[in-house]
Amino acid sequence: MLRSTFAHIDLDAIAANYRAITAFVAGESPGGSPPSVIAVVKANAYGHGAGPVARALEQAGAEMLACADIEEAVALRTAGVRAGILVFGAMSVSDLGGLFEHDLVPTISTPTAARAVEAEAARRGTQIRYHLKIDTGMHRLGFRHDSLRQTLPELLASPHLQLAAVYTHFATAEDPEHPLMERQRAAFDGALATLADMGVPPMRRHAANSAAMLRDSRVWFDAVRPGLLLYGVPPPPLATTVLVHPAMRLVSRVVSIKGLRSGESVGYGARYTAALPRRIAVVPAGYADGLDRRLAGRGHVLVGGRRAPIVGSVSMDMITIDVSDVPCAPGDEVVLLGRQGGEVIDVREMAATIGTIPWEVLCRVGTRIERIYNPAEAF
Ligand SMILES: *Cc1c(COP(=O)(O)O)cnc(C)c1O
Repeated sequence: MLRSTFAHIDLDAIAANYRAITAFVAGESPGGSPPSVIAVVKANAYGHGAGPVARALEQAGAEMLACADIEEAVALRTAGVRAGILVFGAMSVSDLGGLFEHDLVPTISTPTAARAVEAEAARRGTQIRYHLKIDTGMHRLGFRHDSLRQTLPELLASPHLQLAAVYTHFATAEDPEHPLMERQRAAFDGALATLADMGVPPMRRHAANSAAMLRDSRVWFDAVRPGLLLYGVPPPPLATTVLVHPAMRLVSRVVSIKGLRSGESVGYGARYTAALPRRIAVVPAGYADGLDRRLAGRGHVLVGGRRAPIVGSVSMDMITIDVSDVPCAPGDEVVLLGRQGGEVIDVREMAATIGTIPWEVLCRVGTRIERIYNPAEAF
């Protein structure tokens, strides 16, 4: 059984996006070895479905994936992922067993996490490789770049912890006007110099999310960490020459059509009243599916290859659209995100319509939305 509202996920597009990004960072770093691509699949692969997406990326050549916490990483392993998995999140209050049982790479970003992972490794009589996170200005997680000499010696001396890489994360990468990214870049360079000065042997370094990667090849270092761009969406307001294609198409169907006489309203709160007679189609997708209530009166969908406005409130399970000018019938496909005919409603447009960012739009696609994969998973 398949609900009439579902998400079509194009795994070939994600694999092709991965290859396009790999070629982009390889092409522009002549000489030396090009940066590798750590494919970010946190939050259920930005709503696309973590297991299938991760396996497709692995088949496309990704040697390391990244996710938010140990639980997400264990789900990837359960889905059969064999590639390296970097866990971004703080380890301090996690159940750390999964790190060892599932061969994960933790980020160590606080002294508390360092002690907890060291203790767990010692208890198991094993060593574990980790990535060190430096706070260069985001001020969430990470060892402050300007006090490493005080904060790092205990971690570096931990007998069961092996430093495999060092990284930072930019706070303003998608805003070319903001001076913070340049300050963070300088602070990261300073931190690397401090580490060398403290006698730490050279190790892998990474810093760039999608936006930073598109903006400045100086922050590519040994690996880049794109998320959004992998799913075919350039982070606004940036444009890119990297040829990526959106991987998610969110579709539904017209279930019913009815006439609205002038003066009549539709939906909860009677928020939309027809000035003239209107033809209204009901589409079985609502805020429980991830459609924001602010789309009411602002957003559009595609039906019959044309744009139709969303009128009246977005309900939990339904929206109503004005199809007065669009020939359509019950059963016709409605595109909420994606292409139909020559028209497109992309994630950036939907995000801008409701005043949020594309990352949130993708992550909010509801859990009851079935993801249909193309090609049918050949695993
Ligand atoms: C989410 C995340 C990324 C990817 O960010 P995008 O903007 O989606 O490319 C990279 N690095 C870290 C640490 C992240 O948390």
